Amino acid sequence: MPSLPWSDIDTVLLDMDGTLLDLHFDNHFWMEHLPQRYAELHRVSRAMAEMELQPLFERNAGQLQWYCLDFWSTELKLSVRDLKLETAHLIALRPDADTFLAAIKRAGKRVVLITNAHRDALSLKLEKIELAPYFERLISSHDYGFPKENPQFWDALQADIDFDPARSLFIDDTLPILRSARDFGVAHLLAVREPDSRKGPKDTAEFAAVGDYRDLIAGL
Ligand SMILES: [Mg+2]
Repeated sequence: MPSLPWSDIDTVLLDMDGTLLDLHFDNHFWMEHLPQRYAELHRVSRAMAEMELQPLFERNAGQLQWYCLDFWSTELKLSVRDLKLETAHLIALRPDADTFLAAIKRAGKRVVLITNAHRDALSLKLEKIELAPYFERLISSHDYGFPKENPQFWDALQADIDFDPARSLFIDDTLPILRSARDFGVAHLLAVREPDSRKGPKDTAEFAAVGDYRDLIAGL
């Protein structure tokens, strides 16, 4: 991973899930816990639950409602928030993410969280992990009505926080979102090598990736 030209960067935009927090929580929730509890609550087999859930997941991937707990609660006729609480012990920081956050804040960078997570999911995570003090703003794309994959998200973000994309760093574990940021003109982009601690390294295509957060703060 190349070292960052920190003197050219004054704003740091950070994704939450898979970037600062271990994606294991979300992957486990959607692929294991939710299908299991759906089966129990609706009295169907686990295989039947998977058959019912899979097409819904495919149809809604990458759309804003994918991230909306209200949407899923209505669609699946269960409380997604309650089910998330059942697995909340799995919410965890990625290694040294807090060290990185403390270092960039100390260095006087403007630090903003931008997440596709719904406000409810964001609150649940902030109750578990003390992330809020590191950030000037915590922005959910639901506030703007467009997910980060959509160019209109970036227009809304700029209107809201007035940042210079040419002097900004953005870190996110989702490649289509990084491409959307690049199209908007964000100059410094990094993917995440291992968003889910249980799944091993990921192919980040054309993007350089953060492996160890301690390496990123060299030269800060
Ligand atoms: Mg993410």
